[in-house]
Amino acid sequence: MHSLLKSFEQFIYPQYCNSCETPLSEVELLFCSKCRVNDIQFSKLGNWVRQLKTHEYLNYAHSFYWFGDVIQAYIHHLKYSGCDTFLPRLINNAIRESELPKEATEAVLIPIPLHRVRQRDRGFNQAMVIAKELAQQWNLKLEDKMLKREKYTQTQTKLSIIERQKNMYMAFHMLKDAPKAVLLIDDVLTTGSTADACARQLRERGSAWVGVVTLATPKIKKIYR
Ligand SMILES: [Zn+2]
Repeated sequence: MHSLLKSFEQFIYPQYCNSCETPLSEVELLFCSKCRVNDIQFSKLGNWVRQLKTHEYLNYAHSFYWFGDVIQAYIHHLKYSGCDTFLPRLINNAIRESELPKEATEAVLIPIPLHRVRQRDRGFNQAMVIAKELAQQWNLKLEDKMLKREKYTQTQTKLSIIERQKNMYMAFHMLKDAPKAVLLIDDVLTTGSTADACARQLRERGSAWVGVVTLATPKIKKIYR
């Protein structure tokens, strides 16, 4: 009955691909399969921690995909809907494509937290949704209660880079001792300043190795440096 209703709905209000505007089939969401395949590309960056603008406390950084139109719309959808059937497949394809470094084989996954005000507004943390899926597929432990975000980091565009980083370092704190190896999880990685701020806290509370894994990273990086 439900699928019949859905096809009826589709018949009356056809959905179109957000990119090429061809009508979508019932199983397609936001984009047609062709645009998805063309736009969703593995970054193939490997460990790009040394290319991050801020990486003082990080040992490892990996971003599965390039942040293209489809991934962007997809993350947006994830941010506001909280769940998606597309995510498990996206992550499964990515982890089959890239191998974890040996230090991470027993790492604990920690989603980069949102400030509680922002999380309350949004209803959930998209990093947590990604971390849950990764924990399941990698068979690693997930810990989302030990790292807290203190300050509501508002737009910092008027601050200097050094001031921004100082603010960021103060934004996170640990509630207990940190695991030996940690993989921080987030949706997008750009400058590395947020992940590095978390890594600093983890190091201070006992982590020997800290990496960050994200779903995507923007292709054009020179604008961030
Ligand atoms: Zn299309």
